[in-house]
Order: sequence, then structure tokens, then C-alpha cells
Amino acid sequence: MREPARVLVVDDEESVVVTIKAILQLDGYEVSTSTTGAGARAMIREREYDLVLTDLRLEDGDGLDVLRAVRERTPETVTIMLTGYASLESAIQALRAGAYDYLIKPSEVEELRSTVARGIERRRLGQELRARIADLESANREIADLNTSLQRRIDEATAELKQRYEQLQELDRTKSQFLSMASHELKTPITAMSGFLQVALRRMRRMSEDRDSAASEEIRSVLEQLEIVYRQTGKLARLIDELLDVSRIQTGRIEFHYADVDIGELANEVATRMQLTTTAHEIAVTRDSTPTIVADRDHLEQVLNNLVTNAIKYSPRGGPITIEVRSDERGVRVAVKDKGIGIPKKELDAIFGLFYRSPDRAARDAAGMGLGLYISREIVSRHGGEIWAESVPAEGSTFFVTLPLVPVGATQPEPARSGAATS
Ligand code: ADP
Repeated sequence: MREPARVLVVDDEESVVVTIKAILQLDGYEVSTSTTGAGARAMIREREYDLVLTDLRLEDGDGLDVLRAVRERTPETVTIMLTGYASLESAIQALRAGAYDYLIKPSEVEELRSTVARGIERRRLGQELRARIADLESANREIADLNTSLQRRIDEATAELKQRYEQLQELDRTKSQFLSMASHELKTPITAMSGFLQVALRRMRRMSEDRDSAASEEIRSVLEQLEIVYRQTGKLARLIDELLDVSRIQTGRIEFHYADVDIGELANEVATRMQLTTTAHEIAVTRDSTPTIVADRDHLEQVLNNLVTNAIKYSPRGGPITIEVRSDERGVRVAVKDKGIGIPKKELDAIFGLFYRSPDRAARDAAGMGLGLYISREIVSRHGGEIWAESVPAEGSTFFVTLPLVPVGATQPEPARSGAATS
């Protein structure tokens, strides 16, 4: 239960004070009284009242002084002025000075009760409102605090991420530099080695023809070994070229030279050359008459070489390999089909990743660094084309390449003829 509201009644006339006190006590208020302004002011300083009912004209001073004392001490206390008819004017002045209401003496009991009740109600509402505001303010402060700490945590996390990102970038730069340096350093000796080997082979072949049979037998056996070395040197050179390509791709230094290319003809050329490297496979080209496209011939040749090399590598039991060249709505589509070991569905996209090699045993048997398809995808997408694979494991794979008639979105266009390289 709420505490009873505290009311102070101030009037010169003892009888008025006593009557009002009796009426209000019946309504459950705790009523104090004073018959002087000075006494009232002392009481107000002493404790807090919910409502002060004061006569406007007190003998020892103005009721407005009581009102002022209340305003100073407990501004939330509701004040009601009691006034005679003659001083209605002053009652209005009191209202202006902040009194809540006024009652004209002698006032009706009901009017007195309802005016005081309204005043008390208003005081309670005011208190509740203030409590709510205080709650809201403290909630607000909490939110602001949370916000600050959240912001601080975000800032810390961001700073940490930024630092890690910079470290990674630095690592990446170092890796690219290493790749570039290593492949260039390897390229020089391997080129010299294969050059000298070629000359040595030629001279020894001639020697083996000139010499008597015993010596030439010896030379022929050395020759065979040297030829193996030469072939291995070739493989090594190709691996280094792949590394160089990756380095150029990653540092953005790969260059494209665009010109008219007949993809069907290019496919024939690649098929003929690759057929020389295998007897277990039959490489065939099927082609429609396709339009010439604007492309980098050497790089596309590299893509086809890579796809056919893979088709051979990953069909160890031999079989047919087909290069199909057709027109499609945007330009030309090439499909390289083999009947080899195939590729599990979940790897079909991953195989185009840098250094990706299948964990599959059958695939592991073939040598490679997992760079060919990565390079191929880069070349094809630089033409604005697409490359993807379809496969049924143990039955074979098909690699598709689509190329637009003119490179789309090429980042380093090098127009061979006006307007040919860009779109
Ligand atoms: P590499 O052949 O040097 O490993 P690639 O980038 O050319 O690198 O190929 C990546 C992987 O994709 C290969 O290791 C192999 O697992 C798989 N792959 C590529 N072509 C074929 C194919 N024709 N048939 C089966 N698997 C293939």
C-alpha cells in the first residue's frame, strides 16, 4: 500500500485550518497545519510535502512567499492557493508564479476535496513520469556504454584484421617474387643445357655414322642416354615455363597479342604434333566451318596443348582422343574428349585451382605440378571465354572451351587491327 500523501495547510484563521484538516484527514491524507507564513516556511524546509494549501494573504507576510519557499526547496510539490473574492487578481498572479490551482474561500467541501485530490494525482503522475525518465536515461546511458565498448571491440578487431591482411599481402608479395626469381633463374641454365645437348647430340650422331662399328656401337649407347637426358631437359623446361606463366599471371605481366585465329586449323596443328608423342592414342579433329576469332594464337595453342597432353596423360590405357570444334551462339566452342580415368564430380571445379592435383591414385601416377589448367583458365577468361570439365569416372572426361568472336573485357587489349581487340 502507498504511504498516505502529505498535505500542509496554511491559514491565519485557526478555524479554517482545523476544518480543512478534518476534511482532508477523512480522505486519508496525513495533514500538518500552520497559522503563520514563517512557521509554514520552516516546516517546508524541514520535510517534503506532496501538496501545500496556503492562504494568499497571511498576516505575517504574503502567501506567495510560502509558494516561493516550496519552489526553492521541493519544486515538485503541488501548491494550491486559498483566496477571498477580492484577491482573485492575486490568485491569477499566484498561478503565474507556478501554483497548481486556487480555491475561493469559503470553498465547498466537495470542491476542496476534488481540487486536492487532483493536485495529489498530478503529483503522483509527475513522480511516476520522473521515475520513467530516470529509467530511460539510465537505459540510455547503458546503451551508450555498450555502444562505446562495441565500437572499441570493432575497432580492435578491424585493426587486427588489417594487420593480418597486410602480413598476408607481404607474404604474397614475397611468394610472387620468389616464384618470379626462381623461374627466371632456372630458365637460363636449362635453356643453355638443352642448347648444348642438341649440338652434342647432332655431333655424336654424325660421329656414329663415320666410325668403325665397335666405336660407333659405344657412341650409339651414349647417344641413347643423352637423348633421354634431352627429353627430360625438355620436360623440365616446360615445367619452368609453367612456373613463369603463373608468375606472370600473378604479377599481372602476362601479355596478349590479338590477331585473327582459325581455331579449327589450330586444332589440326596441335593434333598432328601431339600424335607424334603417342602411339597408344588416336587423336582426331572433328570440325564445322567456324568463323575466325580475334585471339592470342600462342596462348590458345598452349591451352589446346595442355588439354590434349592431359587427355593423353590421364588415359594411360590409350584410346581415342577427339578435338571437336563447333560454332556456338557467342563464337566458337572446342571440346577435348578422352576415354581415360575420368574425374570425380566433386573435383570438377577444383582441378582449375593453382597447384591442384587430384588425390586419386590413378591421377597421381602421371607427373605434373597442377598448373596447366590454372593457366588455361586464366588465358581463356582473359579472352572473355569459359572453360569447364564434364566427366564420368573410369569412362572419360571432356574439357570444354568457349571463346567469343572478339575478346570481351580483355584487360590488356593490343589491337592488331583497328577495333579488333576490344568490344
Ligand atoms: P597436372 O596435369 O600438371 O597435374 P593440370 O592443371 O593440367 O595439372 O591438371 C590438374 C588435375 O586435373 C590433374 O592433376 C588431374 O587430376 C586432373 N585432370 C586434368 N585433366 C584430366 C583428364 N583429361 N582426365 C582426368 N583428370 C584430369
